[in-house]
Amino acid sequence: FYGLSAATLAHGGMQAYPARYLTAIVMGAHGAFVLLRTLLFKLQMSLVQDADMVPALSQFVILEAIMALVLIAFGILMLANEFTHSALRRLAEMDPLTSVFNRRAFLTLLDKAISQARRTQSELPVLVIDLDHFKRINDELGHLGGDEVLRHFARVAQENVRAGDIFGRYGGEEFLLIFPATSLLPALNTCERIRAQVEAHAWKGLLRGKVTVSIGVTQYVPGESVLEFFSRADTATYLAKEGGRNQVVVEEPTRKGDPSVTVEPIPDEEDDLEPEATLPSPLEPERRFASSRG
Ligand code: GH3
Ligand code: MG
Ligand code: MG
Repeated sequence: FYGLSAATLAHGGMQAYPARYLTAIVMGAHGAFVLLRTLLFKLQMSLVQDADMVPALSQFVILEAIMALVLIAFGILMLANEFTHSALRRLAEMDPLTSVFNRRAFLTLLDKAISQARRTQSELPVLVIDLDHFKRINDELGHLGGDEVLRHFARVAQENVRAGDIFGRYGGEEFLLIFPATSLLPALNTCERIRAQVEAHAWKGLLRGKVTVSIGVTQYVPGESVLEFFSRADTATYLAKEGGRNQVVVEEPTRKGDPSVTVEPIPDEEDDLEPEATLPSPLEPERRFASSRG
């Protein structure tokens, strides 16, 4: 029984709950001792002539049992405590509807990602994703149907990102995604996959292509404030809406921020790229349409 309990505990993911170590070790050791106990008594009967040794051994067995029980109880308490702690943390970090990071958790993680980008001089693309005409979707599917669209979108987005990427719901039908230590091109590929998969999904009660997303993309410039960073991404999303929705727009940072910032060119694979000639003056951020379908 003790051995089985120890094995079960040890297989349950030690990383998540370090108290498992203590409980599993104590249970395993106690189980082994219980098995050895009979052997110990038999050995003692045959070898030891001294009658005083019998109560001493019995006392040791009782002491061991008490210690094991206390340690096991302590381990189980610690395990319960760790479990409650992590469950509460999860609850506090998650958006209840979509089970992705909520705004507060996302902003905390964003802060960390920005510090890391500053420290390591690595790139940090951010996406602002807004579901198109969501009021209409709510009108057509009802609020619960709208909720289901949000849940589906969150699933699609999560299936398309890697473990280190951070995806969260900023509020309503607006989501944010950051790609720590990633250059723009792979981020744009992910954008495009998410956009296309959302568009392609067939919804009961809706025409295909009725649920679409507009995505604004930009990159962090070392030294700028979170506000500057985000307002640039917001501008990109706004431009995606203006440009007809269901598209990805990149708002490149102005180069004056930090000379180390390099923005990779966007591939010319889409036929409907906006011509480079429409770029605004050098003081304004550069804009390029990565993809656009209307
Ligand atoms: P646009 O394409 O310009 O983004 O149009 P929109 O209708 O999506 O934009 P707007 O921001 O005006 O409307 C967002 C709507 O999203 C309004 C609100 O009722 C709905 N919404 C916000 N949060 C939720 C939610 O949790 N569930 C549901 N079903 N709807 C939500
Ligand atoms: Mg919207
Ligand atoms: Mg919105």
